[in-house]
Amino acid sequence: MFDNLEWISPDPILSLSEKFIEDRNPRKVDLGIGLYKNSNGITPIMESVKIAEKYLVSQAEDKVYKGSVGLDGYCNKIISLLYKDAPEIIAEERVTAAQTVGGTGAVRLAAELIKSYSPRRIVWICDPTWENHRGIFSHLGVNIRSYPYLNEKGEFSFDCMIESISKIPFEDILVLHGCGHNPTGYDLTNNQWMHLLEIVKEKRIFPIIDMAYHGLADNLNKDSYGVNLFSEQLDEMFVAYSCSKNFGLYRDRVGALVILGKNKDHCSKIKLHASNLARVNYSSPPIHGASIVNEVLSSNELYQIWAAELERMTTRVKGARKMLVRESSEQGCSEIFLGAARGEGLFSTILLNLNEIRRLKEVYNIYMLEIGRINISGINKNNIEYVVSAIKQVAG
Ligand code: PMP
Repeated sequence: MFDNLEWISPDPILSLSEKFIEDRNPRKVDLGIGLYKNSNGITPIMESVKIAEKYLVSQAEDKVYKGSVGLDGYCNKIISLLYKDAPEIIAEERVTAAQTVGGTGAVRLAAELIKSYSPRRIVWICDPTWENHRGIFSHLGVNIRSYPYLNEKGEFSFDCMIESISKIPFEDILVLHGCGHNPTGYDLTNNQWMHLLEIVKEKRIFPIIDMAYHGLADNLNKDSYGVNLFSEQLDEMFVAYSCSKNFGLYRDRVGALVILGKNKDHCSKIKLHASNLARVNYSSPPIHGASIVNEVLSSNELYQIWAAELERMTTRVKGARKMLVRESSEQGCSEIFLGAARGEGLFSTILLNLNEIRRLKEVYNIYMLEIGRINISGINKNNIEYVVSAIKQVAG
């Protein structure tokens, strides 16, 4: 059956990580895969998560199945966290959520719903964006197009973005990044969210906001501004939520598809369809990581520990960004790192071409994505000077 298969390239992010692990040179630096790293280059398990996990394991009595949309308690806690500043949405009972297999699973479930119930609408994704947006929608055969995020100089341009979005046909679907834009790190200001909302309303566009870095761009409240504003003013939308980064639960695969509807019945009906689609895909999501998140968000004490840990992580990323800006200015190469100065969250794109990025890996053992994305948290006091001088040299 598979005799005629052609060789294809492996996933660029995962294969970059494998190459990094195999690299024996002690000076190697990983700026590739999107993981939070502390100042020692480690992605630790959060203390709040450890405490909750230990407690849950000690209390567990069975491992029986849960339903296709996972744990209700977890889903409600994610909703409360996301809509802390918009409690009326919860009070009006027009939001619900389905637990998913990470944020990827949430995007996938959203795509499945679109494919099943509105297959003719075009899905507009950002250019550039997290590559899996394109992968997931196109794999399902959904029509995708892109809107620009940057101008020809590679700088964020709200004008370019808005000009393109205002030409989108009525009732199409728009995928947005809630915060910590992957790969550029450029986020919308509150005014820009408001401006965008007017177009979304006028064109009756259905937004899917990808929220994979809640709390890691600025803070929990500010990062949910766009989601809250859109949810308050629109009848229908989805939020694809991930707990991979803000709880550090990457491989436990914890996410949620948050569903906004006109009223309780409306969103419950959408959730029922989401549940059926989850059932035919993977039956039910893994419960372990979601139980941990539920525990952390249910206990006031654990919540305080978690929120403080998250704040420290975000402060460290902001510090690494500042370090990069300072060092590049001292080494006289600020122009390559312009994005780092303005962006937020884990990522930034730097102005190197493909050959330069490959030389960086081969000659200097510095690993970054070939689209020019670096993981800011991969930078620390021990490698900053080396990273900036190597990038300066390859940029020649
Ligand atoms: N959306 C975006 C924008 C992301 O960057 C990521 C993680 N790289 C995800 C979704 C998926 O996250 P998860 O690991 O939870 O599937």
